[in-house]
Amino acid sequence: MKVTRRNFLKLTGATAAASAFAGIGLQEQALAQESIRINYAREVPTICTFCGVGCGAIAYVQNGTVINIEGDPDNPINEGSLCSKGSSLYNIAYVYDTKGKPVPNPARLTKPLYRAPGSDRWEEKSWDWVIPEIAARIKKTRDESFVATAGGVTVNRSPGLAWIGSAFCTNEENYLFQKMCRALGIIDLDHCARL
Ligand code: SF4
Repeated sequence: MKVTRRNFLKLTGATAAASAFAGIGLQEQALAQESIRINYAREVPTICTFCGVGCGAIAYVQNGTVINIEGDPDNPINEGSLCSKGSSLYNIAYVYDTKGKPVPNPARLTKPLYRAPGSDRWEEKSWDWVIPEIAARIKKTRDESFVATAGGVTVNRSPGLAWIGSAFCTNEENYLFQKMCRALGIIDLDHCARL
């Protein structure tokens, strides 16, 4: 066939249209697969753990396993969007093996770690040991370091204690932490996102 300007345009137009339809078909297939994957999953609203913006996310849970995480469209902070860090939330718990199958992330901490004073190694401890131990140490340090007055002024402070918050907690949890710190008389408190 002789290629004229007219049939060249017709040919390239038809090719572009076919490619576009093929693309739409692939997108629809991908969406259909995605909806099947989360179809019977339980939706658990949660908060992105990576920074102080506090974007909302939905974790899809099936048989006690998180199978997908997406931005929460009902959350007024992010209205469903997640930044590149938030989009990788799923990978806190799961990574992909060489065949692209999700497997539990071996680097994820699932137990409290304790390093004794002077020790050069971490030991795994149970929550039943850790929580009363932390409470007892806070109480002891506060009792030993509490200052009720300074220069004739009531100060009620505990200079022996310091507190660092976490972006892995929600804004509301961090608010409660700082209230607890004030109640304990802690004046040195901070947060990695400065909340
Ligand atoms: S999605 Fe991004 S901006 Fe939102 S909380 Fe997570 S890290 Fe911060």
